[in-house]
This record gives sequence, C-alpha cells and structure tokens, in this order.
Amino acid sequence: MWRCLHTVLCALIAVAIARGQNLSPEVSEFVKVKAPVVALTHVRVIDGTGAPARDDQTVTFSKGKIESVSDASSAKIPAEAQVMDLHGYSLIPGLVGMHDHMFYPMGDGIFGEMGFSFPRLYLAGGVTTIRTTGSLEPYTDLEIKHAVDAGTMPGPHIHVTGPYLEGKGSWALQLHQLTGPEDATRTVNFWLDQGVDNFKAYMFITPAELSAAISAAHKRGAKVTGHLCAVGFREAAALGIDDLEHGLLVDTEFFPWKKPGECPEKAEAPDFVSKLDMQSGPVHDMILELIRRHVAVTSTLPVFELSVPGRPTIQRRVLDALSPDARNEFLNNKVHSDDASRSKRAYDTEVSPWPAAFKREMEFERAFVQAGGLLLAGEDPTGMGGVIAGFGDQREVELLVEAGFTAVEAIHIATANGAQFLGEADRIGTIATGKLADLVVIKGDPSLKIEDIENIEIVFKDGIGYDSRKLIESVQGTVGSR
Ligand SMILES: [Zn+2]
Repeated sequence: MWRCLHTVLCALIAVAIARGQNLSPEVSEFVKVKAPVVALTHVRVIDGTGAPARDDQTVTFSKGKIESVSDASSAKIPAEAQVMDLHGYSLIPGLVGMHDHMFYPMGDGIFGEMGFSFPRLYLAGGVTTIRTTGSLEPYTDLEIKHAVDAGTMPGPHIHVTGPYLEGKGSWALQLHQLTGPEDATRTVNFWLDQGVDNFKAYMFITPAELSAAISAAHKRGAKVTGHLCAVGFREAAALGIDDLEHGLLVDTEFFPWKKPGECPEKAEAPDFVSKLDMQSGPVHDMILELIRRHVAVTSTLPVFELSVPGRPTIQRRVLDALSPDARNEFLNNKVHSDDASRSKRAYDTEVSPWPAAFKREMEFERAFVQAGGLLLAGEDPTGMGGVIAGFGDQREVELLVEAGFTAVEAIHIATANGAQFLGEADRIGTIATGKLADLVVIKGDPSLKIEDIENIEIVFKDGIGYDSRKLIESVQGTVGSR
C-alpha cells in the first residue's frame, strides 16, 4: 500500500529494486550473508504456523524469496548456493511487531523519536516488520521507511501509522486534539495522501470522531486500531474498529464510575480489573462480541510488566543500549515504583494490585484466543523506559508463554497473526516456499526454552543476513537520545 510521492527518492528506490537491493555502505557494514542463493542446512524450523518444531531441515532461498523447505537428508541444494550449516540452531519467521513505536519516553510526558537506534534494534531483535501504532513524528517515520526501503538505512519493513487520532482534553502535549468528526475525516485523508497506511485512535477521541475516522480509513483500505478510554471496547467494535491495543487493562467499559463518551478520572484500574471474571459474564460476552465483529487485540505485556514490583529482571543489554540519562531515569522510575508498593505493604494499607492484574490480563488474552480471537503481539516501548525496540518484542513472546501459550503458539502469534492482520499473509509471517526470506537464526531451541529467543545471531530480511550483535553494538548508549 506504499505510494511513491517523492520524485528523487522514487527514482532511487526504483534503481535499488532493479539492481536487487543495492545497499549503502552504512547498511552493508552490518551484512553478514549476501549471496544470490543461500542454503541453511541442518536447522530446526519453527515455521510460524503453530506446528511443532521440525529438526534437521534445509531451507534455501534466492533473490529474497524462499525456494524450498525440506528434510536435510533429501534436500536439493543448488550448486551455486552459499551453504551455512546450522546444527544447534533454530529458524523462526521474522517477528511482526504490532505495537512498535519509533519513540521513547524522555520524562515529563515528552517522547523523543529514536530515528537512529530503534530501526537498528528492531532488525537486530529479529523484528523484520513493524507497525508503528501511533506516530509522534509521522514525517520522520515515513522518511525512515523510505530510507530503509531504499537500502540506505538498516531497519525492518515499516507500516507507518498516522499521527494519533486524539480528542479534546488529552494529557499528551505532542498530540493534535481533533475538533470534531470533519477534522477526523480530513486528518485521515491528509495522512493517507502522505503515505501512512493505518491509524491509531487515542484515549479522548469521541464516538463521533472515531466513527468518522474509521469510515474515512476503510473507504481507502486502511485499518484503525485504538488505545481507547472515552469509548469502550464493545462500542468501538460496533463502530467498526479493526484492532484494540493493550487488552483488558485499558478497557474502561466495566468501570461503574464511567460516564458515556467520557474518559473516566481513573482510566487504569488494576485493582478493579484484577477481580473480573474471564470465563463467564460481561467480560466473556465482550470477548465473543469482538470476535463476532472481527476485531483483533494487540498484546503488549512488556510495558505492563514494568508495573509489577520486582519484575522484570533488568538486563545488562538493556542498560547498555540506554544513554546515561535514560539509564538513570529508568532505574529511578523502577525503584520508585517498587518502593511505593513496598511501603504500602509495610503500612498494611494495600498491596500492589499489579501482580494480580497482570495475571488477569494474561488470562484475558488466553480466553480471547481460545474463543477464536486474533491476538497480535507488540511491545510498546514507553512506560518507565525499560522496554526498548527488539528486546521488548522478544520479551513479549516470553510473556505469552508465561501466559499459558505453548512456545510455538506464542511464536505463531508474534509472526503469522500480525502478517494476517496486515493483509500480508501471502508474503510474510511463516516459513514456506514463495514467501520472503525474512528469517531469524537463533542459537538453541526456543520451542523447548523460550528464553533462547534472546540468542539471535543473524536476521535475514529479503534474503540478506544482518549481524545482530554488530547492529546492537552500533547503538550502545544511544537509546533515549537518538
Ligand atoms: Zn503505545
């Protein structure tokens, strides 16, 4: 759904495509494998369909597309192929990150564009396709997409989301506040003309504005998701929304204190949510209603995990990627938040509601999938600052397993489901003949031990293999500044 509007850039892209991905020196320095034909032999394949892992497979690809997937013993390897023996390794499809912003919290409610570090970290983390799911600098996001597609910047395939569709009364300084349904229609059409292909509605959007935005977007084949508050999940589903971000923890419709069309004072109520029943009653009815109307839900467990005292284990690789200021800010935020829940316990007033609410969110996501819903996976690199591009997407898969999905189901959610929602299931999301060679080489076996998903060595995008470690090293100390 990309339209070429920039004359010079379009010419460059056309040339790059004609030459079969001519990469700039800035991108080439991260390339580990680039050959007309590649054969990955003796590798364990987790194909993204949810099927069990298959040991000792050979996958061949050429000109960016998968040519064969077969048992290593019977595989035909083209004579000109560059062969890589991957004994002890696993191969999964590139992750499809469905809540993967380009920005990061800078403190005091301001978010900064990570136009340098995040495209590299997404790719390094095995995320070969992202949806930006709410853009603060849509022009920057579009330029990043053009540069990546032209081979002048390392990064994933990008579905750029328009600027947040937000209503009056927003807390967020960087968001335009719509003035009514006409403004919503105009905004959607303007940004579709600029090249975005999806939208995200935000907390204060009114039902009338949301309805106008959805119909303008649908008219032109674009989809709308939402992190809503003034509008409840069932109301949004009835208006035709395509996807809902974050899950039950942000659905205000069951709060007894919510008034129609208004974002209630206490927009997040983990104590209330932790007492809801997933298996019967109103929440279960809501789940069935979303499924009946084909509304997807995007899981963003990593950003909620930060609110759970003592979680997650803070990783060296995350601290190393952060700038000194961002590192300081994140650690302070985390200690402050954990201390607050600890002192509450000491005074015996109230224990943190987050461990129970986090568990309930996981139960909601399981119940949604069990009932037939399309669950998508994202990370949401906001909150206290500990969730960052790529690493956060891996954490999401680990948390889906903690939620009760099998490892291959979790990988299916994080790959094939996103591809299906984006209308790209014939190109990406699973490892199969004819699909793009967007493949992640992992040391170990994530089907047995999901944490192995952190051991990514090579990420193939369009059949070109990028060195994950080198990409990560190139952004040390920069997340939070650029
Ligand atoms: Zn978000």
